[in-house]
Amino acid sequence: ADDVALDPWGSSSVSDYRKLFEEFGIEEFDEVLEQVPNPHYLMRRGVIFGHRDYRPVAEALQNDEPAAVLSGFMPTGDPHIGHKLVFDEIIWHQQQGADAYALIADLEANSARGMSWEEIDEHARDYLLSLLALGFDPEEGELYRQSENRELQDLAFELGAEANFSELQAIYGFDGETDVSHMQSVVTQMADILYPQLEEPKPTVIPVGPDQDPHVRLARDLAERMRFFKVSEAYASFELEPDERDLVADFYDRLEPAEFDDDTLRCVHVAEAVEETPLSDLEADADTLSSVLTKLNEAGMEPIRPRTRFSDRRATDEAFDALIEAIEGEKRVYENHVDAFEIDLAEAEELARQVEVDTGGYGFQPPSSIYHRFMTGLTGGKMSSSIPASHISLLDDPEDGYNKVKAATTGGRETAEEQREKGGKADECPVYELYAYLLSGDDDEFAKRVYDECVGGERLCGDCKEQAAQLMREFLEEHQEKRDEVEELLADVDIELES
Ligand code: SF4
Repeated sequence: ADDVALDPWGSSSVSDYRKLFEEFGIEEFDEVLEQVPNPHYLMRRGVIFGHRDYRPVAEALQNDEPAAVLSGFMPTGDPHIGHKLVFDEIIWHQQQGADAYALIADLEANSARGMSWEEIDEHARDYLLSLLALGFDPEEGELYRQSENRELQDLAFELGAEANFSELQAIYGFDGETDVSHMQSVVTQMADILYPQLEEPKPTVIPVGPDQDPHVRLARDLAERMRFFKVSEAYASFELEPDERDLVADFYDRLEPAEFDDDTLRCVHVAEAVEETPLSDLEADADTLSSVLTKLNEAGMEPIRPRTRFSDRRATDEAFDALIEAIEGEKRVYENHVDAFEIDLAEAEELARQVEVDTGGYGFQPPSSIYHRFMTGLTGGKMSSSIPASHISLLDDPEDGYNKVKAATTGGRETAEEQREKGGKADECPVYELYAYLLSGDDDEFAKRVYDECVGGERLCGDCKEQAAQLMREFLEEHQEKRDEVEELLADVDIELES
């Protein structure tokens, strides 16, 4: 119950984000919180407030199954305490067992923001040092630069074949003046998001601010399309007749991407659609159906029971039984194939594996995302890299950090008397945010105490800011010491940095 009371925004102020939930289908993080093992304090405190399809990731972490986390940093300035949220999110997922990836979006910084390569090198170094200082394990995880990652570039190229200009125009407002490198940086970013799944599909989370959601949605779309690409590759080897092609297309249309779960991903192919399609729904004649099935069969793509590791077994079994029933009714067509439906699960899995290898496709799982709140700037408004007083850089002199907190706007009342009477407005106070997002660390009790004392009128802004300013100074001192210590680690990281 403490966790709930601690959330200073509660469901009421999540209403600022209501539009995201209603219009874009982002879900409230609270709804998955229970499934998350050892939730991070940013999750417990509602700083991470939303998600898209995070359940598969939470489940994988819980069951020690493969999962991944990836986020990118555009090195356009100093890393600041807003970026620290993302560093923390990556590191936490890594500590929970996920494969962790952090990348330097140098192509994007160059093409979309016009940064020179020298500036990019310098900032990239600073981001990486802070990430390592906060606990990223470079031996377990992977750090890369977009421009240096050949596999990433190849993947971007293939993804580019699945996206077109009108689409990028609609999402990013590109127009006739947009340069091609900028567009290329978008497909590179899509490749980043899918990169952790290059070797094998796995639940992957991308921690971002809500403004990045369009990227996530496009990446999810492309993941689907690449899956279809995979299937169509397989067809190419069948040499289907036009009639048969129509029938396969018909099966295709029946594949409802939204309904796929982790299992079906690996062995998605027409065979599954065959399995799920009531025969009476098909417009094909018996001969065409029979020949398609024969070709599927020859290619080792018999209708099989979907792998059942995660899925709802009963639902699968019911579908399967229904199929068998349907087959019984259509023996004329299926006579030669009934046996194929009854292969056992181990055999089916083996087949699914072969199909995957044979088709050489990707089978990406649509990536998941979690969304964190933006920190309010210390001067009010949004925290912005371009307004130094609005944020605290992780490289700020600890004394400057202290001074910036002392000078911050608060949610305090006009007079101390009024504050004692009505309490402060912690919900609107950038200083309280510092406590909740950073200064309390893992100590929920402390964050809660600050909140309660503030709204209860026992805490006055002067003292409160003094305490926060001191904690900030300590945090910066420690962080910068750690940065010095991890210099060596950075030297071992296989990334080209000029400085
Ligand atoms: Fe903000 Fe602290 Fe003042 Fe409350 S007492 S409004 S938390 S500075």
